[in-house]
Amino acid sequence: MTPDTPDRATADGSASTRADTAFHEVVIVGGGPVGLCLGVLLARRGIDVVVLEARPERTRHSRAIGIHPPARRVLAAAGVVETLAARGVELSEGRARFRGEDVARLDFDPPVLAVPQWITEQTLEARLLELAPRALRRGVRAVGVERRGSGAVVRAVSGGAEVRVAGRWVVAADGARSPLRGALGIPVLERRYPDAYLMGDFADTTADGTAAVLHLECGGIVESFPLPGGVRRWVVHTDALEADATPARLARLVQERTGAVVDPASSTMLSAFTVHERLADSMLRGRVVLIGDAAHEVSPIGGQGMTLGWLDAEAFAPLLADDVLAARYGFGSDGATVWPALWARVADGRRRAAAQAARHAGLNMALGRPLAPRLMSVRNAAFRGLYRTSAVRSWTSRRFTMQ
Ligand SMILES: Cc1cc2nc3c(=O)[nH]c(=O)nc-3n(C[C@H](O)[C@H](O)[C@H](O)COP(=O)(O)OP(=O)(O)OC[C@H]3O[C@@H](n4cnc5c(N)ncnc54)[C@H](O)[C@@H]3O)c2cc1C
Repeated sequence: MTPDTPDRATADGSASTRADTAFHEVVIVGGGPVGLCLGVLLARRGIDVVVLEARPERTRHSRAIGIHPPARRVLAAAGVVETLAARGVELSEGRARFRGEDVARLDFDPPVLAVPQWITEQTLEARLLELAPRALRRGVRAVGVERRGSGAVVRAVSGGAEVRVAGRWVVAADGARSPLRGALGIPVLERRYPDAYLMGDFADTTADGTAAVLHLECGGIVESFPLPGGVRRWVVHTDALEADATPARLARLVQERTGAVVDPASSTMLSAFTVHERLADSMLRGRVVLIGDAAHEVSPIGGQGMTLGWLDAEAFAPLLADDVLAARYGFGSDGATVWPALWARVADGRRRAAAQAARHAGLNMALGRPLAPRLMSVRNAAFRGLYRTSAVRSWTSRRFTMQ
């Protein structure tokens, strides 16, 4: 009996290979939006899947809000799109503004959905537990992975004790710093940008309704997006990382650059960040697959990282499921061996999509940097002329919405 083949049940009902090693057909490390989504897609196909998540509880620290149109297809397959639509705001218009006047207006059709990331994760987690009540193990931190002939074993720590969880496949969805990627020694192409941002959620005092607004101002870009519950997110380009900034500081920057008055007392989230880009050399190593930020981290400016990760999950779920089901029912197929070209083609396609999103984000960041008043006026006047053309508007809105 190979170590990755189930031979008996453990106390919690999962199959086991040795007294101390649980076995699941697919082991996902990381219960962020991408790991949870893949868990749901696999559980819907009847696969025995487990998600190992280091955090005992979900963080409410806000990151992603934008769910782009291609992600709706994946979330519909996961059975959560209606729930998320009901909890979010549909963003159907984008405006670029300079000194209080619109430079360009774009229609987003279909619209982008804005939902705070913790709500998205909560919704996916509830769906996963509905399909497979024991599929999420919180408080389990993976520390390494050993590749086995026809599987892999995750070494992890839980409550101070070492645990081992084997799978026919292991998926690393453990985020941008991916400990599993490090343990496998997969090289990463890394790039740091000079840009820094200050971001915060406040009561919406604007008249912009459900429009996203990019203020192209000389001191640096100010972006604002509607959120559910009458809240608006503000993201401001800063000269350097302002880790100790207060809501009052962000409100002052917003007012100085755009004239909008934001009430610091209504702040529910404040965060300062710099920008990294990371692209793993490969998404596949034996029977370990990297997806989401573990495989590719793109700049939050452009807000495409979570959707990219969900598209990875959509691409790999059928491959994983077919291989697992073939092995389960003894069809004798060994997906990664029989179809290496197919797996490699899917991985290449996903890496290309990530590289393209990174290029778009790079352009967005360049557009948001400070510029001398005369140059900014000339550039924005040129944009105003250009965006009278419907083909340019339609190309730009497709680019912003990942279509
Ligand atoms: C400020 C900001 C704004 C953003 N805005 C957007 C946006 O609007 N739209 C968008 O699409 N994207 C956006 N992003 C990017 C988005 O947040 C990420 O792309 C997304 O969270 C990636 O999901 P993930 O599941 O791959 O990784 P993560 O969300 O990082 O989740 C990884 C999970 O793995 C767990 N983990 C880590 N190590 C281990 C371990 N050793 N063992 C077990 N578990 C482990 C972590 O606890 C975490 O829960 C933004 C990012 C930032 C920083």
